[in-house]
Amino acid sequence: MVTFSRNVFIPLTNACRNRCAYCGFRSDEHKLMTPNEVRSLLAKAKNASEALFTFGEKPDVYDDIRKKLKAMGYSNFLEYVRDMNELAVKMGLLPHTNAGVLSYNELKMLKPWNASMGLMLEQAVELECHAFSPGKKPEVRIKTIRNAGKLQIPFTTGILVGIGERHYDRIYSLEVIADIHENYGHIQEVIIQGFSPKKGTPMENWKPPSDEELLRVVKDARRILPKDVPIQIPPNLVKDVYPFIKAGARDLGGISEVTPDYINPEHPWPSIEELKASLRGEFMLRERLPIYPKFVRLGWFSDEISSLIGKLADEEGFRCSNI
Ligand code: SF4
Repeated sequence: MVTFSRNVFIPLTNACRNRCAYCGFRSDEHKLMTPNEVRSLLAKAKNASEALFTFGEKPDVYDDIRKKLKAMGYSNFLEYVRDMNELAVKMGLLPHTNAGVLSYNELKMLKPWNASMGLMLEQAVELECHAFSPGKKPEVRIKTIRNAGKLQIPFTTGILVGIGERHYDRIYSLEVIADIHENYGHIQEVIIQGFSPKKGTPMENWKPPSDEELLRVVKDARRILPKDVPIQIPPNLVKDVYPFIKAGARDLGGISEVTPDYINPEHPWPSIEELKASLRGEFMLRERLPIYPKFVRLGWFSDEISSLIGKLADEEGFRCSNI
């Protein structure tokens, strides 16, 4: 079986304290979505179960963002995130928030209104592309992922392939994720994502990894990661998902029918029908929630979202209105 979720992508802000050399999302012309803009995006997502909140890290280091937040009645950005998470739940969608590095207390604050959260490890080694990104220091990312484990937050992580790392760095990064999961048991999926060059960035002329190279990483990941940790391959970033599924990937991530992939806008998501066809009749495609079935069954969610999970999940923990 291969799984996916239907989501709506909420890019709350493009302001970010980091400057990753491959990033086409952050901007110095800061935008901050208003609650009304968030509400209208959520309202469009009729078939989705997941509100994917993805945005720049610690945007309130900037004066203009702090000023806008203050005008909306917030003293910091994460308070605003929590309120927008709550709004999503009230509108029938389960939040999954990618907030960058967070402290234990910040994770604890967001946990009640999130079905799951995420932070890409990227690579567990220092790389030149992260020279101006304090949030990409491996030790601070590992600490965030560990703290999420202590708090029993179902967690998505992954590695970004082709950003200057060697093959043995990839192996090491996967071993780090495996080790964290063996300690806390909270990793619900590991994304193997290929670097995709963006115009106007310092890495615009870098060659992206070939599908063959990515396939090798998926095979390594399947060998290294514990058996209960599924591998996700983003279907809009490879030519054909089938060889990756054959190599052990079992999830195709969040697909949106209403919003683009704001991180990789040049790569539109395939339709559900196209995904089904790409599995060649050999694997069943099944819809899940942003919290994986295992964690639904374990009850790793808060009272605040339990009635919504009860409404959306079937007895196995998948999404109840099956495709
Ligand atoms: S990749 Fe993420 S952390 Fe890096 S600059 Fe872009 S938005 Fe910020």
